[in-house]
Amino acid sequence: MRDTFKAIVLEEHEGAVTSSLRSLAVDALPEGDVLVAVAYSDLNYKDGLAITGRNKVVRSYPMVPGIDFAGTIEESRSPAWKPGDRVVLTGWGVGERHWGGFAQLARVKSEWLVPVPSSYSLRDAAAVGTAGVTAMMCVMALEAHGLKPADGKDVLVTGATGGVGSMAVALLASLGYRVVASTGRAEAHDYLTALGAHEIVERSLLSGPGKPLDTARWGGAVDTVGGDTLAGVLRTMAYGGSVAACGNAGGIPFTTTILPFILRGVNLLGIDSLPVPGETRRQIWARLERDLPRDALDRIARREATLAETLEVAQQIVEGGVQGRVVINVNE
Ligand code: NDP
Repeated sequence: MRDTFKAIVLEEHEGAVTSSLRSLAVDALPEGDVLVAVAYSDLNYKDGLAITGRNKVVRSYPMVPGIDFAGTIEESRSPAWKPGDRVVLTGWGVGERHWGGFAQLARVKSEWLVPVPSSYSLRDAAAVGTAGVTAMMCVMALEAHGLKPADGKDVLVTGATGGVGSMAVALLASLGYRVVASTGRAEAHDYLTALGAHEIVERSLLSGPGKPLDTARWGGAVDTVGGDTLAGVLRTMAYGGSVAACGNAGGIPFTTTILPFILRGVNLLGIDSLPVPGETRRQIWARLERDLPRDALDRIARREATLAETLEVAQQIVEGGVQGRVVINVNE
């Protein structure tokens, strides 16, 4: 058993957040009944906000960021897990109020963990991570509100080149939906087409000014951007369509009118992947293993970074400059 491990540590001094790669004592880890040898974490938008200090997502300092990770159980006081079990963690405020995955070790509550699907490597599980879980939750919410591939309707994904957006495009396409991807990145058309997008629309088409109701186009939508983009999505929804809203990369203000709701029966479904109960998580991971094509996962998670490179990639993600997922190899 090692005495020390490497981790990214965030500290705050007079409102400014600093991040450094440190060697920490195992005894410094927070409370929890399982100790996980982390193999891979990954970079989410929230990690970018935490590391750059751009938005207050971290509740207490010092904090080890990383809102999800995959690894193997090293020690367990829980009957649910034994050393060597392969586990993945997403959500529960890890990396925000409990030390997270940008570290070689993590001590957490056993009930926060789920088994890594048998056909996935630890790298695959981290690559899917919070983005995959959230995208799958969006798809399941749309299905629960009646969306079916057989309807043949266009399903919109905004922020399509991002982590959640890429996963949503690939999942919806593999399920047989006609996916329209909205992106601000003209150079990403080949990438989105390879994930299964039938059509690509320029981000500004949705985020610009518009009438309270515009031409009805989308039978369903996954929105990862929020702000003006969400307003644009709502006014262009087809009658009875649902929007699974999970993100705010484009801002938190919400300015729309009541008309999409009362004149087109649009449903706005809020998605939060943080507090999902264990059994539902297992169902989500089973669906991911079944519905997310392997070649799409490989395409989405091509990029890998080390712990030492996390500040650089964190800055890129908050500036909207990361395509797909960046997997963090914590042992490199
Ligand atoms: P990414 O940075 O990977 O993706 C966000 C995408 O949004 C970008 O790739 C870009 O796509 C687009 N975008 C970025 N900045 C702007 C902007 N200023 N205006 C309009 N579009 C922009 O982030 P994630 O996929 O990790 O997360 C996406 C959002 O979902 C975040 O707000 C995150 O906090 C949220 N989230 C919510 C979860 C939940 O449980 N509800 C879980 C996980 C994430 P493009 O260039 O293609 O337009």
